[in-house]
Amino acid sequence: MSFYTEEHLLFQSSVKRFSEKHILPHLTKWEKDHHFPSEIFLEFGKEGFLGILVGEKWGGVQGDYKLAAAWCEQFGRIPSVGFTTAVNMHSLVITPTVERFASEATKEQWLPQAVEGKVIGAYAFTEPNAGSDLTNMNTKAVKDGDNYILTGSKIFITNGARANFVLVVAKTDSASNPKGSHGGFSTFLVDTSSEGFSVARKLEKLGWHCSDTAELVLEGVKVHKSCLLGAEGQGWQQAMASLQWERLMLSLGALAGAKECFEKTIQYINERTIFGKTVGSFDYSRELVAQIWSKLTAAEASCHNCLLMLQRGEDCRVEVSLTKHFVCELAIWIADKCLQFHGGYGYTQEFLPERWLRDLRLNTIGGGTSEVMLQIAAKGSVAKLASN
Ligand SMILES: Cc1cc2nc3c(=O)[nH]c(=O)nc-3n(C[C@H](O)[C@H](O)[C@H](O)COP(=O)(O)OP(=O)(O)OC[C@H]3O[C@@H](n4cnc5c(N)ncnc54)[C@H](O)[C@@H]3O)c2cc1C
Repeated sequence: MSFYTEEHLLFQSSVKRFSEKHILPHLTKWEKDHHFPSEIFLEFGKEGFLGILVGEKWGGVQGDYKLAAAWCEQFGRIPSVGFTTAVNMHSLVITPTVERFASEATKEQWLPQAVEGKVIGAYAFTEPNAGSDLTNMNTKAVKDGDNYILTGSKIFITNGARANFVLVVAKTDSASNPKGSHGGFSTFLVDTSSEGFSVARKLEKLGWHCSDTAELVLEGVKVHKSCLLGAEGQGWQQAMASLQWERLMLSLGALAGAKECFEKTIQYINERTIFGKTVGSFDYSRELVAQIWSKLTAAEASCHNCLLMLQRGEDCRVEVSLTKHFVCELAIWIADKCLQFHGGYGYTQEFLPERWLRDLRLNTIGGGTSEVMLQIAAKGSVAKLASN
């Protein structure tokens, strides 16, 4: 029995058709150009794909996490994790955060356009000296009448170079919240056309080639107080509110990518003949295929378990951390094995495992590294065991 309902499966079919028509024919060029056109967001918008987790009032479809997961498992099969994650960050993390926490005025200005794909968003936490340890963030927002003045820099920001708005997390209260504490952070929706905002550079990367990853500089950027999300000092809690979903989203993307890479590899090894036999018929190949299949089944079950916990509103930090670690590490291992199954061709850009391997490599870093996932899981597991 499928984890998803008939409706979810129909939705996935429409996502597949859309991808085949609008994405796949252009993907190799986009990857070579290290760029994809922002106009593609308009196409997603027309189909209603950017409003899965956004309310109808703003043009969304008011779906739940299960619908979003169904999207991730289909959309993530597109062989460009940088592209799919850039879209998902905008539609499944950033716009829902704006809906949840922004003022009515800010929502009216940005949300309908974000759902239509007319404006694109980014979420900026990481700084040159604050990645795993985000309490070290140094970007400051100082109150000045009806405005805040933002100063600092952010790095590794997905969609950073193309974004029309960026959710910037900054310190509003350094005095009573010393470094190392979670307090005193606030989130601002920053219009990237504001004076003082600039894109310092786009980073060259191992993979995620068509996705822009930027360093951003804020030099005295004036932001009206209506662009503060929620109240001052709530930035950390706001980030935490969507973090488990974001990590699960990255895990589902890795799962989908690994499955796609594996399924295409099965076709290849059943066609490629060596020593008069197909590669897939060697004993070693069969054993490896079975191993991959069993691990993928476990990865899928782990993701779906987290999803159900998230849907029920349960505390799933430990489960999500373990799942992100397990699934994202596994996806790299699978892409590597698939590359090997292709022999010399696997090492070329004529076949996709090399791109999958480069692209999936990031999922053990972004959204919290594998090492940090294990730390969270270890702490949480000890606490859970102690309370039993
Ligand atoms: C392509 C790309 C896109 C990204 N997109 C975004 C984005 O849109 N927005 C955003 O804000 N950020 C984004 N990031 C940043 C990403 O979230 C960070 O790179 C990540 O959190 C790790 O931080 P760091 O790079 O500073 O590594 P560091 O924190 O410097 O970590 C270095 C090493 O130390 C290890 N380590 C850290 N803590 C521990 C510990 N307690 N125990 C053991 N080992 C530990 C890490 O696992 C890692 O191996 C992106 C990054 C990339 C590369």
